[in-house]
Amino acid sequence: MKLRFLGAAQNVTGSRTLLEVNGVRILIDCGLYQERQFRDRNWEPFTVDPSTIDTVLLTHAHLDHCGLLPKLVREGFRGKIYCTTATAEITRIVLLDAAKIQVEDAEFKQKRHKREKRRGKYPEVPLYTVKDAEECLPLFAPVRYNEPVTLSDGIEVSFYDAGHILGSAMIKVSVQSNGEKRLFLFSGDVGRWDKPILRDPTVFDKADYIQIESTYGDRVHENSEDTKALLSKVINATNKANGNIIIPSFSVERSQEILYCLNELMIEDRIPQLMLFLDSPMAIRVTEVFKDHPEMFDHEMTNYMNNNKSPFNLPNLMVTRTANESKAINHIGGTVIVIAGSGMCTGGRIKHHLVNNITRPESAVLFVGYQANGTLGRSIVDGAKEVRILGQKHRVKANIVRVHGFSGHADRDELYRWLSNIKKQPRKVFVVHGEENSARQFGDFIREKTGWDVCVPKYMDEVTLD
Ligand SMILES: [Zn+2]
Repeated sequence: MKLRFLGAAQNVTGSRTLLEVNGVRILIDCGLYQERQFRDRNWEPFTVDPSTIDTVLLTHAHLDHCGLLPKLVREGFRGKIYCTTATAEITRIVLLDAAKIQVEDAEFKQKRHKREKRRGKYPEVPLYTVKDAEECLPLFAPVRYNEPVTLSDGIEVSFYDAGHILGSAMIKVSVQSNGEKRLFLFSGDVGRWDKPILRDPTVFDKADYIQIESTYGDRVHENSEDTKALLSKVINATNKANGNIIIPSFSVERSQEILYCLNELMIEDRIPQLMLFLDSPMAIRVTEVFKDHPEMFDHEMTNYMNNNKSPFNLPNLMVTRTANESKAINHIGGTVIVIAGSGMCTGGRIKHHLVNNITRPESAVLFVGYQANGTLGRSIVDGAKEVRILGQKHRVKANIVRVHGFSGHADRDELYRWLSNIKKQPRKVFVVHGEENSARQFGDFIREKTGWDVCVPKYMDEVTLD
């Protein structure tokens, strides 16, 4: 039995872990690297020949977990991709959109580099095309939560609600090796307790080997009342100054949660009834998937829907599907709120809204999600005075605000809460999916609290297990 850490090891994106047991190769997640300093890894050949991988287990539909599947399939993977039904539906939307962006980006770069007579670091072809993305869709094998699936003799997997985004899962792999049973637990991205819309993360009382994420392994989030107070303060001040509120947002989950919160603030009369734009074709499609899966909602959200109310149907909410509708937003006078993707400002319509607002001191840019190192979003929140957007330099004058309360990731104490349900000492805990500092600090925190054997693997590390 062996684990190989092929991504999101001492960094946040590019999740990929290979489990080899009894000659069977199982890949847990096949994510895209989004941090600038690691993006060339997307272009490198896979460490093992994709045709020798038997199965992929996909925790959820975020690009840093599923975004390299089209490349894996194009290069020879032919097995099944197990995930929940909602994950399969959202991943389809996410991958087709990612492929389109890859193609557009490659064309844009080709033109720009030709004009500037220079060559970029990466090949000026798309990482994968829409056709590549389409070819991996038939391999999806949707499963239900809590229903075990037998992969091969002695290997069984089950998916459990992770409470992170719609359809997100923690995965338990149970194996019989040399007559002994071993339980592997892969946390995927761990969600949070008592949040709107989704259920709480599932907890487990035993496992032999645990792989846990650590995105926020070194910090504790503000509470939800503080989040609402901060949000209303920024929105009211920006409205008074006649600026716009721009919210870069992950299309999956964060956009829906922000709508939910803005709806509450308007009902409570804490912010004015401003025009609100959901300017992300993908977020609009994902919102439709939400409406199709009420069985995955928590109690509060189910009540809401049963009373024929939907936080996704605000009276002053406009959804902009076409690029022209999106551009028209810039000509509206007064204050508007725009939610647009991508969440880390690495692509999509948010870039145009930033170009139009980032130099205006009266506007505000609200960051509600994690900003990975090496992304445009991270440079802005880190206080860059000037940033390059769509090939042009822009001075940063807008009010830059970070709101942590919307995070879909458990913080240090919540991660520990999840882990502390394990009653018997596991054989080993692997801390992944966190920047080096965060992963190490969380590793130390677990060791101090429990005395367990904790490992913070590096990229490409291999660990043999018994
Ligand atoms: Zn995620």
